[in-house]
Amino acid sequence: MRTLITGGTVLSMDPAIGDLERGDVLVTDGVITEIAERIDAPDADVIDATDRIVMPGFVDNHRHTWQTAFRGVGADWTFPEWAVAMHGTVKPHYLPEDVYAGTLLGRLEALHSGVTTMLDWYHVAQSHEHEDAAVAALRDAPGRSIFCLGAGWGTPDPVDAEIRRVRSDLTGDGLVTMALGLRGADDTSIDTVARDLKLAAELGLRTSVHVVGGGDERPVADLHEHGLLRDTTTFVHANGITDEELRMLADAGSSLSISPDVELKMGFGSPMTGRALAAGLRPTLSVDDVPSVGGDMFSTMRTALAVQRGLDGGLRSRDLLEFTTIDAARSCGLGDRTGSLTPGKDADIVLLRADDLTVVPFGNPAGTIVSAGHPGLVDTVLVAGRVVKRDGALVGVDVPALRARLLDSRDRIAAAAGVALDGTWIPATGGE
Ligand SMILES: [Zn+2]
Repeated sequence: MRTLITGGTVLSMDPAIGDLERGDVLVTDGVITEIAERIDAPDADVIDATDRIVMPGFVDNHRHTWQTAFRGVGADWTFPEWAVAMHGTVKPHYLPEDVYAGTLLGRLEALHSGVTTMLDWYHVAQSHEHEDAAVAALRDAPGRSIFCLGAGWGTPDPVDAEIRRVRSDLTGDGLVTMALGLRGADDTSIDTVARDLKLAAELGLRTSVHVVGGGDERPVADLHEHGLLRDTTTFVHANGITDEELRMLADAGSSLSISPDVELKMGFGSPMTGRALAAGLRPTLSVDDVPSVGGDMFSTMRTALAVQRGLDGGLRSRDLLEFTTIDAARSCGLGDRTGSLTPGKDADIVLLRADDLTVVPFGNPAGTIVSAGHPGLVDTVLVAGRVVKRDGALVGVDVPALRARLLDSRDRIAAAAGVALDGTWIPATGGE
């Protein structure tokens, strides 16, 4: 099985290959086998990439996909309001089929927007049925996904037996793999963190953890002092940590996931892109919560760039593309599989429309993608060589049926929780 993607503008995101103003990419059995200005492969299926940008798919390393049913409802929420609304008010009414519908549509939406790899940071409920529903949804969407079994915000810590059960199902040989979501060092004991990290290491799992910091809290320094920083851990947000703590993360080889829109809107403080770089840490970007923000990486990159340029004039468009492809792939432990167009890596590839009215006249590819990109440009998406979106439409997905299913789910949950969809129920319910 060979596929030739021909005649596009290639942004490989591989420093050894660089950009090709006009290039071809050959895919053999799901793996990129050649990238050159012209490739002769007469027996290959051809994807015409004329007027297209050919680049690696995006990687989102932190999204709570179960919340998709409440898209837009939380656009004006602060962080405490989000916690009351999503975790305190609607989450208790989620059934496994709601988790399935939200996760499936959310994962497909991400694919539709060119996100070929996504980490689903799961914290909706601890039950076999809810977890299995999320995993089933990730498997039913033809993307590369990481099911991050997590804790926090009223969800009990997953017990060891449950972590082992899910691990025995997600053995790592398919497109859906597993990670462990840790409760933050600022809301559990250091002994618990140590215990969870030990189990994660035993099971070969990467970990992800939300961190706040600031004031008297020094969560990263605490972990450092106890020898608990790992190169397999991604720290999410961390807006309040000190520069010294950022250097500890850099020295340990840990990753940082910044969710610029959520952090700014919900009151976490400025995204730390510039500070992280100054500390020697390559940041990555994530969507986080779709009740509050859109589910694509274009707007995420644009916000991150604008914030940092506003603070100190730093960052360039190319940096943002690296954060959302090669750097994010490394943060998921997938740097040798995806994140760049490199021979030997899996063919996780997106074709963006360079002839769309919103981006013509087309000149500077990286600058155009970051300054003016949007999901409407995503024409074709391949995951491990399989075409999952073609000519702007997901392949084999009944979108109206899926939409109807999620609408039913949302309306049922909202009715059970007694909430309106304008997001104003927070003051009335008070919170818990
Ligand atoms: Zn999060």
